Amino acid sequence: MHPKILICDEIDEEATDKLKGIADVETGKEKLNDLEKLQNYDCLLVRSATKITKDVIANAKNLKIIARAGAGLDNVDVLAAKERNIKVVNAPDSLTISVAEMVFGSLLAMIRKISEADKSMKEEKWEKKKFTGREICGKNFGIIGFGRIGRKVATIANGFSANVFAYDPLITDEKIYENLNVRHCKNIDEILKQCDFVSIHVPLMNETRNLINADNIKTLKKDAIMINTSRGGIINELALIGALKNKLIGGVCLDVFENEPNPNPEFRNLENVILTPHIASATKEAQKRAGMDVVVQIEKFFKG
Ligand code: NAD
Repeated sequence: MHPKILICDEIDEEATDKLKGIADVETGKEKLNDLEKLQNYDCLLVRSATKITKDVIANAKNLKIIARAGAGLDNVDVLAAKERNIKVVNAPDSLTISVAEMVFGSLLAMIRKISEADKSMKEEKWEKKKFTGREICGKNFGIIGFGRIGRKVATIANGFSANVFAYDPLITDEKIYENLNVRHCKNIDEILKQCDFVSIHVPLMNETRNLINADNIKTLKKDAIMINTSRGGIINELALIGALKNKLIGGVCLDVFENEPNPNPEFRNLENVILTPHIASATKEAQKRAGMDVVVQIEKFFKG
């Protein structure tokens, strides 16, 4: 008999078709609220929008595997799954390139004022002087979290001829930094104090919540730009809004928010921000890789 799979968030079409070849597939996260249906699923597949909570896991009596078509597992209660011996799989490598590229897309949009210039042109203006920008070349580029995405960002930043700095308490092998032409910082302050651009690539955990907060945000350079494509909550949003309003920092590019999809409305009224709706990994290529990667793991799980 085919396993029953609920695809909660839309995934790549080819991956969905492949799944249909091996399973009875239903779609729509609202079905998680139907307790009768929920009991029947052998597998739940999510991206980042759906939360697989302790309650969902407790009510999904037949559940054997949870698949996350992406990297971070903060929307899945992994501990509750483990307690019930439910396997959790994800696709950690699939999104790296897209997120890393987005960092520079957002940063360039901010420092070259691309969105504003575009808006001005469409209002039939020609405001050349207003849009003088800054370069990345020769600037200090700080990376907080030197895992998959952080390292890819380092490679690209080096391509821009920036001086690249990285901090990651769990990566102590100097060679990893040396091989990528990155200066290893021993604490977060070293990054915040000397970098012109600071990009954040840590998972959301108790230890990283409010990693950037009212105390350390003040140590950033007055014209520093922060880029957060990791998770909302890693930068304390109230501290950030305060710093932006008081011009303690130059600006911020935010792809992720504490309260998605309803971020703090204050962000929308600030000038020195670039806001995107959690789309750093939303490319055709990354979504195909993520979808296919988890489908292969699901197939292996059920077929052995
Ligand atoms: P990864 O696990 O490869 O790297 C994370 C790194 O953070 C690790 O090396 C870890 O040692 C480090 N770290 C942990 N605690 C730290 C701390 N206190 N200070 C500094 N570094 C610390 O993960 P990754 O694939 O590079 O992804 C990073 C994060 O990006 C994910 O956890 C996810 O939340 C986010 N992400 C966002 C999107 C998006 O669409 N915006 C897509 C993919 C991933």
